[in-house]
Amino acid sequence: MGYEDNVRKVVPYTPGEQPGGRVIKLNTNECPYPPSPRVQEAIRSLDTDALRKYPDPLCSELVSEIAGYYGLKDENVFTGVGSDDVLSMCFLTFFNGRDPVLFPNITYSFYDVWASVYGIPFRRVPLREDFSLDPSLYRQKNGGIVIANPNAPTGIAADLKVIEDIVSSNPGVMVIVDEAYIDFGGETALPLLDAHENLLIVRTLSKSRALAGMRIGYAFGQEKAIKYLNDVKFSVNSYTMNTPSLLAGKAAIEDDRYFREIRDKVISTREWVKKELRELKFSFGDSCTNFIFASHEGTHPGETEAGFAKRIFASLKERGIYVRYFDKPLIDGYLRISIGTDEEMREFMRVLKEIM
Ligand SMILES: *Cc1c(COP(=O)(O)O)cnc(C)c1O
Repeated sequence: MGYEDNVRKVVPYTPGEQPGGRVIKLNTNECPYPPSPRVQEAIRSLDTDALRKYPDPLCSELVSEIAGYYGLKDENVFTGVGSDDVLSMCFLTFFNGRDPVLFPNITYSFYDVWASVYGIPFRRVPLREDFSLDPSLYRQKNGGIVIANPNAPTGIAADLKVIEDIVSSNPGVMVIVDEAYIDFGGETALPLLDAHENLLIVRTLSKSRALAGMRIGYAFGQEKAIKYLNDVKFSVNSYTMNTPSLLAGKAAIEDDRYFREIRDKVISTREWVKKELRELKFSFGDSCTNFIFASHEGTHPGETEAGFAKRIFASLKERGIYVRYFDKPLIDGYLRISIGTDEEMREFMRVLKEIM
């Protein structure tokens, strides 16, 4: 049947929509504020002649900036094209065994896609009914573990003790902790790094540092693990990060005051939105992220949670407000609402009250 027998057929990850025009975009957890003015300066001052040359394959300046900021050594840091690239490299590097890789049954929907594309066996481990993580379920035989903390799309954080339990009860495999949202709440696993060679922490500049369009992610690990990651990276593509993103990433990390300012604004807006949603009888766990994952028992006669979520999602979209809806078992009764500016969230609440 032609060449198609030889094709690597995959079911791809579905990213949130990127609509054009004037909309209120609360569907992909981007930062509603611009990146640091220093990022703009860094990009403006880029001499395009520099683009003749390949970028630094070691990403040394960015790596040093990140390492310095977190009090680590350069040898503890790996960078990539968004944390999606970093996570994909981690899967390729550390999940090369026969036993299934474990991750929660409700989590970032890219994990099973990478496992599938790389032919890695995997098993979904149930969360508790309140979406919390049960570490005792991670004592089964496995080929590696990946945990998003705080989790997506639930927004809930696990205590450091829970993460430590999972890391220390699995010394024979790599445990990847995806901390895409850690700047907005929860406890980082960073203090565990010294004592656990099987821990890798993955971060991104896409959310809390407003650089989703630049594609910058990084990982922390012990020197040996970072070396393994680099060996695989240099076996796939030596020049993953381009020259402008290396400069932009460094500038964003340097401007710590600006970072704290926008992060704090997002957090205070989130707390206000929680209060408003509670008054409208929405249910949700305690979000430690820049989004809220909320359900509602319905406002029309006979309406189910899923019916309500679907209807509100469509109605908001008609009015130019984009949130995320996952038509999947266990979470089809929820809307994931990213936190925008105060103005955007006031408009969101106004429209929501109108259509409920
Ligand atoms: C957004 C997100 C990522 C990917 O972020 P990028 O750095 O933009 O690739 C990874 N993990 C989780 C849990 C996310 O929500």
